[in-house]
Amino acid sequence: MNYISTRNSGKKTSFEHVFLKGLSEEGGLFIPEKLKKFDYKELKELSKLDYRNLAFHIIKLFTGNFLDEKNLKNLIDKSYSNFREENVVKISKFNHNHILELYHGPTLAFKDIAMQLIGNFYEYYLQKNNKKISIIVATSGDTGAAAIDAIRGKKNINIFVLHPHNKISSVQRKLMTTTRDANVYNLAIEGNFDDCQNLVKSMFSDITFANSINMSGVNSINWARIVAQTVYYFYSYFQIGKQNISFSVPTGNFGDVYAGYIAKKMGLPISKLIVATNQNDILHRAISKGDYKSSKVQETISPSMDIQVASNFERLLYDLYDKNCEKVKNIMNSIKDNSFKIDQDKLKDLQIDFVSESLNENEIITTIKKFYEENKIVIDPHTAIGVGAVEKLNLSDVVILSTAHPCKFPVAIEKAISKIEKLPESLNYVNDKEEKFDVISNDLEKVKDYVLRSI
Ligand SMILES: *Cc1c(COP(=O)(O)O)cnc(C)c1O
Repeated sequence: MNYISTRNSGKKTSFEHVFLKGLSEEGGLFIPEKLKKFDYKELKELSKLDYRNLAFHIIKLFTGNFLDEKNLKNLIDKSYSNFREENVVKISKFNHNHILELYHGPTLAFKDIAMQLIGNFYEYYLQKNNKKISIIVATSGDTGAAAIDAIRGKKNINIFVLHPHNKISSVQRKLMTTTRDANVYNLAIEGNFDDCQNLVKSMFSDITFANSINMSGVNSINWARIVAQTVYYFYSYFQIGKQNISFSVPTGNFGDVYAGYIAKKMGLPISKLIVATNQNDILHRAISKGDYKSSKVQETISPSMDIQVASNFERLLYDLYDKNCEKVKNIMNSIKDNSFKIDQDKLKDLQIDFVSESLNENEIITTIKKFYEENKIVIDPHTAIGVGAVEKLNLSDVVILSTAHPCKFPVAIEKAISKIEKLPESLNYVNDKEEKFDVISNDLEKVKDYVLRSI
């Protein structure tokens, strides 16, 4: 499979390059030149597979000669052997909808599903090619923990994680900062998540710096993450065994829901993709009204979605604007000056696949409470946004992605149902161990300096 960038469709590149570089030289995002589309018969065959085999059959379409089939199979097995569910995810039914629990990996959020695989891809590649890299990643809370768990202790890799200081939950922070491995560095940036993301983007686009440390990224723009995430759309659709299923996706950076869109483009007959946001609702405004204007990021009880500029949206814009790179470049510039509006005809196209809703803080708390009273299931604030969006839109036959374990957000849970959600026993240790992180101002030079001094 060849890859191109949203800002340069003339230059073809390989999975290896896409995986290691993350962002194209022009600042665009990588996408496959062409996607495989499964027909009815092929889908029927895929529907018989268990999670790992299904993952193998989907992921192998994207990895080209990065690794052979035997190694891919092994790495998938290795990645999912430390999940608490044999088939990685768990599906439960309530009323006319379903909850898809994606948080049974080591750091209790859906991000483990892609990240464990990526960690093993890196290890395989670096060992084979005798190379060393530095991963730098921004996190709104869950990416960092998932990335650290996937990378810690691995040879030839250092990982630097930038999180917004005092703006993530203490469980989220402890899952990152209690790691003792010498290849892990935690940076608490005095700013918000968008600041952290901008710092990482700036380091990437400084080619001299990026090359000098062999910089690589695992943020949700990393194509391998998207691919790993398409698997559970297929798997849950097949398990439920019904037609016209929709998915409700708690959305921040538009990575997870974009994976659903890719599954749909690959032939999975998904009805609608519901983009569910918190009060940082730029994507809701964009999808419902065409209004893609960012405002200041507000801190909410669903911190992993406290984002204004959703990086992966560029990939969708590329499709929407007829794969026209010049147009995409212009749009990305107008997004920078906050003057972009989606044209009416394009908005109609967008709404064929997507609908959206947003929940404010009160609605999130009420949804957690109501869901607990009706179903005796505790959902985390992010999942509650997915549930609440479906309720507001009055839809049925929806799979709601449950993106994190409720114990990661004890304050919100206690507020909603006066119950303390405990960590699974295997993770209790984070409460006793000493934390290690460095507070750094929102200053590109200071961050670069820190990285250079550390490696
Ligand atoms: C990262 C995250 C999200 C948002 O996912 P995106 O791919 O950024 O849209 C939602 N919920 C939780 C718990 C997360 O960690």
